[in-house]
Amino acid sequence: MTITEPAYAKLNLTLDILGKRPDGYHDLRMVMQSINLKDTVSVTFKERQGITLVTNLNYLPRDHNNIAVKAAELFFRETGIAPVGLTIRVDKHIPVAAGMAGGSSDGAAVLRILRRALAPDLPEADLEAMALQVGSDVPYCVRGGTALAEGRGEVLTDLPPLPDCLLVICKPGFPISTPELFSQVRLHRLRCHPDTAGITAALSGGDLPGVCRRVYNVFEDVLPRKYRAVGEIKRQLMDLEADAACMTGSGPTVFGVFTDELQARRAVETLRRDYPQTFLTRPVGRCAPADKCG
Ligand code: ATP
Repeated sequence: MTITEPAYAKLNLTLDILGKRPDGYHDLRMVMQSINLKDTVSVTFKERQGITLVTNLNYLPRDHNNIAVKAAELFFRETGIAPVGLTIRVDKHIPVAAGMAGGSSDGAAVLRILRRALAPDLPEADLEAMALQVGSDVPYCVRGGTALAEGRGEVLTDLPPLPDCLLVICKPGFPISTPELFSQVRLHRLRCHPDTAGITAALSGGDLPGVCRRVYNVFEDVLPRKYRAVGEIKRQLMDLEADAACMTGSGPTVFGVFTDELQARRAVETLRRDYPQTFLTRPVGRCAPADKCG
């Protein structure tokens, strides 16, 4: 038997850092949005014990360091269900180390598949608690859609969907280290914070211009100069008539919000000349439990 699920990328419409916790993690407040740029995750159940991972990207880990494998191992450990043999196939299309939670989304898809096949009565809350042990972004990725994520990212509140729009995604060719970026943050020196209440009110009112005015990521305030391409891409997107442009997560990917399809396509065409990993995407809604996902 094989079950397949889409694993959607996410964007941060906002990212705020509220403080550092005694356990070393930061308290965050983020408005997250799934987009239709996706990996495809399939799990085949087999007789022979053990987990095999197959992927189209040969540089990704294929052992327990792959988030998809880690999620499967954790599922069996936490549910107490006797492990069965699995082949996990991950077809990657989400750029790696991009701030779009690609690996977390693969892990979340594996959790949804295993629940569907082996523990259909497992409550969503239990699956999300398991997901947090896999990684901070994984609980949100189990759910997807438009959501407020607080705490480490696991305290989730569904939000009304982002009004339909086009999202141009542009990933420059360098990685940004998340720990490096956190180390740059001096909380008392952050000049601005996103207006989270305002953006959630705008979402409730279906007010896309109101959302666009409030898209903001505090990491942009502390980006070292060597990453100035991020600011350049933002400026290019705004010059190309985006209604808003922002970095997602800890970068380096930048997204632009458009309402006009022709302008969005022109932006993709222009940016692709310098940044081959540029995509035209749209928002997608929440992954319902089990087979209603997507
Ligand atoms: P986030 O937005 O959650 O910070 P990201 O999009 O920046 O994540 P990922 O693409 O999830 O980053 O990958 C980060 C690291 O995780 C990579 O160095 C990669 O080797 C490792 N990794 C493990 N499993 C996967 C997977 N299934 N897909 C992508 N990367 C994976």
